[in-house]
Amino acid sequence: MANEFIGRNELAAQEEIKLSDIDVLLINPAPPRVDRVAEHLGIASLKAFLLSRGIETETLDMSIEQVSVSETVDQILAAQPRIVGVSMLDDTKDSGFSVIRQLSTRGFGGKIVLGGYFPTFASKDILRDFPDVDFVVRGEGEITLFELVEFELGKDGAKPIEQIEGLSYRHDGQIVENPSRPLIADLDILPPVDRKYAPQVLSAGQYLSVFATRGCWGSCSFCDIVGLYGISKGKRWRRRSVERLVDELEDLAHRFNTRHFIFNDDQFLVKGNSAYRLVDEFASELERRNLKIEFELMCRADTVNRKVMQRLKDIGLKRVFLGLESFDEKQLQRMNKRISVRQNLKAVITLYKLKIDVIASVILADAYTKLWDLLLQFTILYILRKRYFNSEHSKISVNKKLEVYRGSPVYQEYKRKGILTKDHYLTGCDYKLKFWTNLRLKMLSLEEGAARFLFRPKMNSTRVGDEFQLNMTPLKQKQA
Ligand code: SF4
Repeated sequence: MANEFIGRNELAAQEEIKLSDIDVLLINPAPPRVDRVAEHLGIASLKAFLLSRGIETETLDMSIEQVSVSETVDQILAAQPRIVGVSMLDDTKDSGFSVIRQLSTRGFGGKIVLGGYFPTFASKDILRDFPDVDFVVRGEGEITLFELVEFELGKDGAKPIEQIEGLSYRHDGQIVENPSRPLIADLDILPPVDRKYAPQVLSAGQYLSVFATRGCWGSCSFCDIVGLYGISKGKRWRRRSVERLVDELEDLAHRFNTRHFIFNDDQFLVKGNSAYRLVDEFASELERRNLKIEFELMCRADTVNRKVMQRLKDIGLKRVFLGLESFDEKQLQRMNKRISVRQNLKAVITLYKLKIDVIASVILADAYTKLWDLLLQFTILYILRKRYFNSEHSKISVNKKLEVYRGSPVYQEYKRKGILTKDHYLTGCDYKLKFWTNLRLKMLSLEEGAARFLFRPKMNSTRVGDEFQLNMTPLKQKQA
């Protein structure tokens, strides 16, 4: 294992571009809590795309580099890029806006552009409230950002700003939202993402992230991926050609001496007739090149079938992140998951029998969940944990309350029905749970706190995930 890391520092040194004379500096702000070191494929893809078109671009990941807001601003001011791009998610927007405010007070003279999930759904609010932000790139960013940079740098043949699709900006004191840009139809036009931070990720014992597809063909009501890709014309789920994907895996395996990967796709698989064919194409190409890898991926329960999963296991699938969401039939319908409880159970059992590790996610309650529905889910989760999630690497991750994101269909629904008790683009959305459901979930939090306190000396980090099992005990005794 130690040999894997030989030469990475040298590689990093070779790949590092000095933060000077650059046109564009892309920032990934730090979230309040960093769970693991991971590459931000969004800014890494933007950088690769701009570089491939002759734009000097660099990235600065605040989490990976462990730099504060003021240290980030120091680096930006030292580099003096013409354009600073800040990618924002809900949990990174606060540090992103702190960087922007400090840039302004410390006299940064370049342009500031935002992109990512959060700005896409709040472009008008941001341009209204943050005068230091010059542009917002909505949706997929590569081509929009490139055209904007060409415009700002005054390149020959640059499009006029009003023709740059997917861009929001101010003009004569008014906010202008250009039409949305159609989704990139052929993902192979994108070069492989930049790997500046691969050495740090591997040194932290994590896997390199790769994307094989973009978007999702699902339409879950709580998911803002639906909104992000839904605002643009074009296929919402696209995949790279197998050749390009395996080229990249092969290159990464050789450059970084690793064979472990995480597919960062929102939806790696499809269902139906082509499901096995697509997986088999990928598997056959890996086998043809004798490329041995191990990998993890995310998928829906209705894409799990024995034949597909066995084929994936044969070529190195180790773990699946499975979005089960609920074991309450009515809640699954409200979520527009188009999956039944039976399908969820079948997926869990299939993966268990194939000995593929599973991290499953479940949401306990939304605005309509009744106490009885909640208790039923507790019971099912208790049984599942005992029978199918008993390996060290498999677990069910439980979210107590459905989060409402502004880009999701459920946001529109709750807003229309007057259910939202809080609705602000900066501080988020909230709603009331049903009284008894809320009370039981509060008790659950107390039970978890007590378990943490009582079992702290013996409990290691992997056992914390099992706390929920303890909470199920009283229910089981009651039923018995
Ligand atoms: S929750 Fe998962 S399956 Fe549903 S739309 Fe989002 S990415 Fe697709």
